[in-house]
Amino acid sequence: MPSMKTIYFHIKGLVQGVGFRPFVYRIALRYNMKGWVDNRNDGVHITVTDEYGKIQSFIKDIRLEAPMASKIVSIDEKVLNTELFNDFKIVKSKDISNEITEISPDICVCDECLADMKIQPNRLSYPFINCTNCGPRFTIIQDLPYDREKTTMKSFVMCESCKSEYTSILDRRFHAQPIACSVCGPEYTLYFEDKIEQNFEKIISITSNLIDNGKIVGIKGIGGFFIACDAKNNNAVSELRNRKHREGKPLAVMFRDIESAQQFVEISDIEKTSLLSWQRPIVLLKIKDNLAEKVANGLKTIGSLLPYMPFHYLLFDKLKTPAIVLTSGNVSDDPIITDNQTALEKLSGICDAIVTYNREIYNRTDDSVITFFNKEEKILRRSRGYVPSPINLNMSVDGIIATGAELVNCFCVGKNNQAFMSQHIGDLKNIETLNFYEESLERFKKLFRISPNYIVSDLHPDYLSTKYAINTGLKHIRVQHHHAHIASCMAEHNLDEKVIGVSFDGTGLGDDGNSWGSEFFVCDLLDYKRYTHFEYLPLPGGDKTSKESYRMGISYLYKTFGKDFTKLEIPFVKNLDKEKTKLILLAIDKKINVPLSSSSGRLFDAVAAIINLCTLSTFQAEAPMRLEAIIEQNSNEKYEYSFNDTISFNETIKGIVTDLINGVSTSIISAKFHNTIIDVILEVVSKISIEYKLNKVALSGGTFQNRYLTENLMNKLSSKKFDVYTQSKIPMNDGGIALGQLVIAAKKIKT
Ligand code: ZN
Ligand code: ZN
Ligand code: FE
Repeated sequence: MPSMKTIYFHIKGLVQGVGFRPFVYRIALRYNMKGWVDNRNDGVHITVTDEYGKIQSFIKDIRLEAPMASKIVSIDEKVLNTELFNDFKIVKSKDISNEITEISPDICVCDECLADMKIQPNRLSYPFINCTNCGPRFTIIQDLPYDREKTTMKSFVMCESCKSEYTSILDRRFHAQPIACSVCGPEYTLYFEDKIEQNFEKIISITSNLIDNGKIVGIKGIGGFFIACDAKNNNAVSELRNRKHREGKPLAVMFRDIESAQQFVEISDIEKTSLLSWQRPIVLLKIKDNLAEKVANGLKTIGSLLPYMPFHYLLFDKLKTPAIVLTSGNVSDDPIITDNQTALEKLSGICDAIVTYNREIYNRTDDSVITFFNKEEKILRRSRGYVPSPINLNMSVDGIIATGAELVNCFCVGKNNQAFMSQHIGDLKNIETLNFYEESLERFKKLFRISPNYIVSDLHPDYLSTKYAINTGLKHIRVQHHHAHIASCMAEHNLDEKVIGVSFDGTGLGDDGNSWGSEFFVCDLLDYKRYTHFEYLPLPGGDKTSKESYRMGISYLYKTFGKDFTKLEIPFVKNLDKEKTKLILLAIDKKINVPLSSSSGRLFDAVAAIINLCTLSTFQAEAPMRLEAIIEQNSNEKYEYSFNDTISFNETIKGIVTDLINGVSTSIISAKFHNTIIDVILEVVSKISIEYKLNKVALSGGTFQNRYLTENLMNKLSSKKFDVYTQSKIPMNDGGIALGQLVIAAKKIKT
């Protein structure tokens, strides 16, 4: 008889809340393996006794067949004293703190379920099919432990057939909490022309007909409602924009499958992997053509995604068009609508028909958005598929709540060494969004069993997140906006030391009372020294400047040329309203409502205005996005600037105006401007590096969402042997601020 060995395995990675233990159990039965599997905070633990070779095949299968939403990072192996077991057991976890990590994000429908949808009699074309490896999770969870009774599936009583699958450990649907079939599960309803349709086959055929005929349809998704129309039909897309009052911002497009997507957008291998990942994010991709012009409105990339709900697959089976616009179902800046009644009330003015279903969405999520810089995935909006996966830190952040910023808000709660970032919340100045914020924060506290001792906010006294923090009455810590950006980047990379921090964005209150946004820091998690920044410029009209970029154009031209700028022979100046300009100059001179700002975002706005590319923005960051979109990629030219105590762009602005007068193309001007900014950062970072003997550079802030800027900067810094850190898992925009606030607060509390 071959010798028996007892081997212990410790599997680390994303192995919680994804049905890993029953999966291990099934593989163990395949090999007739004896022992046990257990799931703790630090991963999955397995002990088995058998022949060594057989154990190796067993563990190899675990690696190869692991559930879609799991990710094995490492498997440690240890030989124990031989111990004989009678059977293979799942050890029930008693540790309540264990459960907190077990909330999985929502997972796209899996291939096996798609196959079942064609053959299982009780699930033929059944749009709520799911299994242990796929289906809704976070969006339906009301409380823990994760059990059907504590999800919005509780009102659906399992039929006998579902129940037997649910209770059979060898079944693919063992303990699949949202398990359902056409006999017992949720159902779709279509509202169209005062009629209500509940026959699913008819719902699909009417919906697909409407879309193919240029109509607009509201469709309930996994985390909220969406609005769909044919992405190849310019009239339909225009109509959608009109009805939704969404003039400029590019719309996301869902393609039938990867092959269809390839006809419309360029897809590299890594982008393809992300498109097909179980998170099914929106991926920003370069447009080839064939889409309705109104979809991207002149920008060169488009948010693209693939079907993730059974409904999407069934719809595309019937649709003629391989591409549909799929945009958030909301009115103006409100959060995406989640409940049926509100959808019927508020979306009926936009949509020709509305498709709902009778399972409640408890936690709202939007589609997540990612892009690639230098082949690295960067998340820009973190929501469906990613939330509430924790960020693992190497320090305790227990009992701290970070309230985030304002415009692109996410909050973050700390439990032990883990940070739980909320889903994308939005602009808190909107009352509906603020309600969503407060509600979600309460839910996160309850869900993750947080009893907060500290609350941390931005410095800005007017941010509603700051006011929220004050109102809790908890011990309150305030963190400077750009320090939080850099700390967020550091936390993602588990850096806890002095670094060079470069934080560029649109705005954030500085500790001198001015608006910052081009900060070079020497900093660690506790504190920062502001080394230098762009020269302060007046923001005529204050907050108005972020939408009315011509105001920044005037401010920069006035600073560079004085009053004479009005005589410049360039289209931007010639088109200016003389009266308005006079008032703006007067306001600057008299310092009436003209806060000072070192914002890099506002400089990009100014340049976009001066070259007459974008003088008014219809959505956030439109001017910098348009400026980036026109870049001539193959130009190495740049402009002059000066760097003394601060960085001045007088020479840059002069250069741009001269180029304009000489008829240089705006594409070249844009390239030269971007190259100048890259040069500035290189020069300053090199200088700090020598002075402080630092080699690690952390880049964060919304300005770095500019692909040309960040890719070229990263390459140039790397070639100068700097260690460059940028954010991938957490947004580099204000959506990532809360994580930085959290770790800074943790440091401050400890000292
Ligand atoms: Zn499945
Ligand atoms: Zn059933
Ligand atoms: Fe910011």
